[in-house]
Amino acid sequence: MSTQFLAIGECMVEMAPTGDGTFAMGFAGDTLNTAWYARKCLPPNWTVGYYTAVGEDNVSDQMLSFLKGSDIDTSAIQKRDDRTVGLYIIQLKDGERSFAYWRSQSAARCLASDRAHLERVLGRAGLIYFSGITLAILPDEDRTAFLDALRKARSNGARVAFDPNLRPRLWEDADTMRACVTEAAGLCDFVMPSFEDELAHFSDPAPDVSADRYLAAGAGMVVVKNGPEEVICATAGSRQTFQPKPVSGIVDTTAAGDSFNAAFLAEFLISGDVAKSVDAGAGLAGRVIRHRGALVDCLEPAQAT
Ligand code: ADP
Repeated sequence: MSTQFLAIGECMVEMAPTGDGTFAMGFAGDTLNTAWYARKCLPPNWTVGYYTAVGEDNVSDQMLSFLKGSDIDTSAIQKRDDRTVGLYIIQLKDGERSFAYWRSQSAARCLASDRAHLERVLGRAGLIYFSGITLAILPDEDRTAFLDALRKARSNGARVAFDPNLRPRLWEDADTMRACVTEAAGLCDFVMPSFEDELAHFSDPAPDVSADRYLAAGAGMVVVKNGPEEVICATAGSRQTFQPKPVSGIVDTTAAGDSFNAAFLAEFLISGDVAKSVDAGAGLAGRVIRHRGALVDCLEPAQAT
């Protein structure tokens, strides 16, 4: 099997308030977060790649430098001279964070427009990771082509992992979101939803119902995360639950799910052991949420209460 972990989606420029009226520039995105943590978790014989599209401008170059500096392979990323990367600004009002986005014309929306390139890139991966946000940003016909390319890569031996990451505001309507996410889940080896999203947008009354729904759609294994509550790992023939260790001193739950997915998949690719994989996922997520920000260098041992 290929030893390339390939995450696909949109990385954006993040402008975060520093407290003195200015903003600090960084780079962020759900699939990027997972790639970044996967690089930390996987052994050196695995490469971790990120696939997206960027512009040819200076900010796009800075994004590529950031990825390369994180030991993430950027060689497949498409460059377009007519677009640039998306951006969001975090604003703080009375301690509450709000986000304003400029992403509707981002280069990443074109990541599936060159079908032959897309198939070549996916064809080299051992594990392909994407999310509901990856699907949401694609034009309809590119979304269909993207799913076809995933099917083809999978039939050639790649494994496919998907976090539904339901964000209705990115979709034309909620029914389209539910239909596309269900179709995508059906062609995946791992579907890794957060129950909070599934409750809100599929009205699932319990995490087991989310697991059953994605299994019925055709998913190989469903891993349902639920904040501090039990993680469910279900396949057609088995169901196990695991209680994450309690975490004290939580300061920011950004990227809890993204980091969980990275550590779970990295462990599963190496050992194939579900219990060890949940332990790795919950252990990393438990450390990430004790720090501010999405990308936290925290591979030191967990400090459970
Ligand atoms: P998301 O960030 O996608 O909403 P979750 O909130 O479900 O994801 O959290 C993902 C994982 O992070 C959980 O399965 C758990 O391991 C860990 N986690 C999140 N919140 C807590 C918490 N309050 N206490 C302990 N672990 C947590």
